Amino acid sequence: VTYTLSEDFMRCAAFHGHICPGLAMGYRAARAALDYLKAQRSIDDEIVAITETDACSVDAIQVLTGCTLGKGNLILRDYGKMVCYFLSRNSGKGVRLAARPTRLERPGQGHEVAPERIELSYEGAYPEFKPEVTKEILELPIEKIFDIRDVEMEIPLRAKIEISEICEVCREPVMPSKVLLFEGCRVCAECAKAGTRAGQDGSECPAVS
Ligand SMILES: [Zn+2]
Ligand SMILES: [Zn+2]
Repeated sequence: VTYTLSEDFMRCAAFHGHICPGLAMGYRAARAALDYLKAQRSIDDEIVAITETDACSVDAIQVLTGCTLGKGNLILRDYGKMVCYFLSRNSGKGVRLAARPTRLERPGQGHEVAPERIELSYEGAYPEFKPEVTKEILELPIEKIFDIRDVEMEIPLRAKIEISEICEVCREPVMPSKVLLFEGCRVCAECAKAGTRAGQDGSECPAVS
């Protein structure tokens, strides 16, 4: 059986590198969010996405919504949950999408998965490329896959362009908002982590001598 994938899903696949159920989940989430917010792909940072996963789905979200790491309108909260929020700066509207449980998840004690919620199930180990699962995710009614609800949230501030300052240890430019204080020196996170006053060129922090 051949199955034709939509052009925009293929764009996600081209960016991500492969086709997988996670990518399909992100695709459905992104499409649903744009519909819900009546929004277009973000040219700048009109939409802000907050995702609680850093898995495959995030790549489809970046391609379709234009919420990207580089523009600062994709915020990762690394909670390991297929939950994402989309907020529109234009309308002030927000939506939360949370993946419904499937048979894949191990239900906690007393939290058996309801039978109507196991439609994304399949047998066996985690499949990276299960085409039938991907197809199912692409075709199921959205409400079978996600719990979707309105949210009122404060929209994160726009990313600021800052003029870098120079780390007092490594002498490399660093954003002032990311500078840390280490033994009285203004240093980058790398140098602070290394916990050494000696820079890569052997130089010492001028404030400590
Ligand atoms: Zn993937
Ligand atoms: Zn440094």
